[in-house]
Amino acid sequence: MLNFILNLIYPNVCGFCDTINKNYLCKKCELKLEKYRNTNIIDCSKMRDKKFDEQINIFHYEGIVREKLIQYKFNERAYLYKTFSKIILNDKKICGFFEKYDIIIPVPIHKKRNLQRGYNQTELIAREIAKNTNLILENKVLIKQKNIKPQSGLTKFQRENNIKNAFIVKNEDRIKNKNIILLDDIYTTGSTVNECCKVLKKLKVNKIAVLTIAKD
Ligand SMILES: [Zn+2]
Repeated sequence: MLNFILNLIYPNVCGFCDTINKNYLCKKCELKLEKYRNTNIIDCSKMRDKKFDEQINIFHYEGIVREKLIQYKFNERAYLYKTFSKIILNDKKICGFFEKYDIIIPVPIHKKRNLQRGYNQTELIAREIAKNTNLILENKVLIKQKNIKPQSGLTKFQRENNIKNAFIVKNEDRIKNKNIILLDDIYTTGSTVNECCKVLKKLKVNKIAVLTIAKD
């Protein structure tokens, strides 16, 4: 817990090079990140293997992007949420896209995992986005009820089985007829976000876009 708090009050640095920077991302690193960019809006409404309507992956999961996402998720570098949020909020295309949507839901982690790590890395970013855009954060709607094995290292088929029935929805009135941004950190086979969309789409939601920091 102490580590978590220390991480959050870490000085204002660029998350990629650790130099002091009040914007959490320096110009030099912002330029360096360009080569990993893959920020396209993909229409998924006719793709049978995708249970959502639109998709944006900001980066390719490579090089320094991969390195930083791993540190963010596993090495208690909670403060990196500031940098990743900045990247999203600096992007005019993504912010314009948000205007068609009402709420943002971070892909949840199981409460046991949350206790171990001290934070849900995706929720920290979603909260920051909601603070600075039209989107409303809904973090008590989609709940991960099953504490599953990690998805990494599993095949697409194993991932789908592993994540099956892992999520439930509470307070469903809050998402009725809404346009939803579902935020996750890494997109690999799509099993996790598909499973989330399956439970969300059983209720009367309007449409769902999946936004991820990087696509593997
Ligand atoms: Zn930098």
